[in-house]
Order: sequence, then C-alpha cells, then structure tokens
Amino acid sequence: MGFNENIANIRAGIAEAARAAGRDPADVTLLAATKTRTSGEIRAAVAAGITACGENRVQELTAHLADDAYRGASVHFIGHLQTNKVKYVVGKVSLIHSVSSEKLLRAIAAQADKLGLVQDILLEINLAGEASKSGFPPEQALDAARMAGQLKGVRLRGLMCIPPPALRPGGNLQFFEALRQLAVDIRREIGHNKILDVLSMGMSGDYRDAVAAGSTCVRVGSALFGPRPSALPEGSPPPLPHDGRRPVNEHF
Ligand SMILES: *Cc1c(COP(=O)(O)O)cnc(C)c1O
Repeated sequence: MGFNENIANIRAGIAEAARAAGRDPADVTLLAATKTRTSGEIRAAVAAGITACGENRVQELTAHLADDAYRGASVHFIGHLQTNKVKYVVGKVSLIHSVSSEKLLRAIAAQADKLGLVQDILLEINLAGEASKSGFPPEQALDAARMAGQLKGVRLRGLMCIPPPALRPGGNLQFFEALRQLAVDIRREIGHNKILDVLSMGMSGDYRDAVAAGSTCVRVGSALFGPRPSALPEGSPPPLPHDGRRPVNEHF
C-alpha cells in the first residue's frame, strides 16, 4: 500500500467525519507524525501531498532538517521537550504542540526572545490525569494561557491532547469534546477572538472522532506510514540491523 492510497483513505475519513459534524473538511490539517521515519519516507509523504510534518524527537528533527527532508511542508514539534533542548526547536518549527509545563513555556519564550522571534505554541492538556503523560491538568490551563499571553516570545494558538488509546470506537470522544470546551472557556475568559483556533487532537486510531469533536489538526503516523518498528507485538524477534543481516555472533 502506497502513500497515495493511505492519504486518500485518511482524507476520506476526515471529510466524512467533518461533513457529518457540519464542518468544512478543509479546516482540518492532516499532519504526518514522522517519528522513527527516514528522510526518504518523509520526502515521499510530502511528494504525495502531505503539507505538515510533526516530529517527536529533537534528534530526528535536527537530522531531517539537515537533510532538508521537509521541503514543501511545514514542520511541527509534537513530542515531549526538555527545557535544555528548546534551542534546537524554537524558531525551527512553525508550531510547538507539546508545551506541557510552566517551566517549558518560560524556556521557549526566553529562547524566542533571544532570537528576536515569536514562537507559535499550543498547550498540551493531560485530560485523563494520566501520571505517565505530561501536560497541564485542565484546571491549570487557564492560568497557563494567561501566562502565555504575558510572554512576548510566544503566541498561544490553541490546545493539544494525547488521550489514552481508545479501547472501543468512540472511546475518546469525551476527551476530544472536553478539549474543545476547554478552548471555548479559555477564549471566553481571556477575550482572545482570533487566537486559540487550533485544536490538535486525533491520531491513527481515533482521528474521525477527533474531527467530529472539532479537531483542526489530526496527527497521524501509522495509518500513513505503516506500523512503527517499535510497535512490533511483544515476543516478536528483534528487528534486523539496517543492512538486513543478522549479527555474526548470534545463534539461531
Ligand atoms: C506517534 C504520535 C502520533 C501518531 O500516532 P499514530 O497512532 O501512529 O497515528 C500522534 N501524536 C503524537 C504526539 C505522537 O507521538
């Protein structure tokens, strides 16, 4: 299965969910989640019509930028970001989706200030209160939005969430609706009309539900590129080294 077919399938799913919700499918960006993918795979996705790529890891972002792999698409950062790595991201991506703490927010603003630019950001919200995930608890989102509004190095564009994997179809609808409502509430409180228009939510397994609930950006990896190497079922033999040969000292 090629990119063209995968992209067509995903776009059809987005369009169907959008129309059913009375929305314009053109208001939803299909962002390719490119973690573990090669520069060649990214180029092929862009050639097939992908207009936005999202990276999780600073190292991969840096390598793919050096390769000029994203040419023709915008680049986003969607993964966990440590404060000591913001210099590799700020000013190099059009949007940082994963601003998950006050400390990170301040570090991003400070770096943007230093470079004399304004970095577009989203606040990541930990809706399900999962200890394993980063993000602001929903009840702290308004304060974080107010703080972002006072830092001149950042421009708050909206909210992002990564709910737990949906256990059944429609299982994450409640989280997506909660994120949308949170954005509405914050917008009302802080009085911004033009900003906070981005809702980054929905992945391979649940993007239709996210679009139904108002997503403006779905982040899709495996439905576009195929399963990730790290996503092999437990008990599978280890993947072969890149040259396809087994190490000589391994016994089978
Ligand atoms: C990996 C990843 C995705 C895409 O996940 P798939 O299930 O492969 O579509 C989306 N968002 C974030 C933050 C990710 O890390």
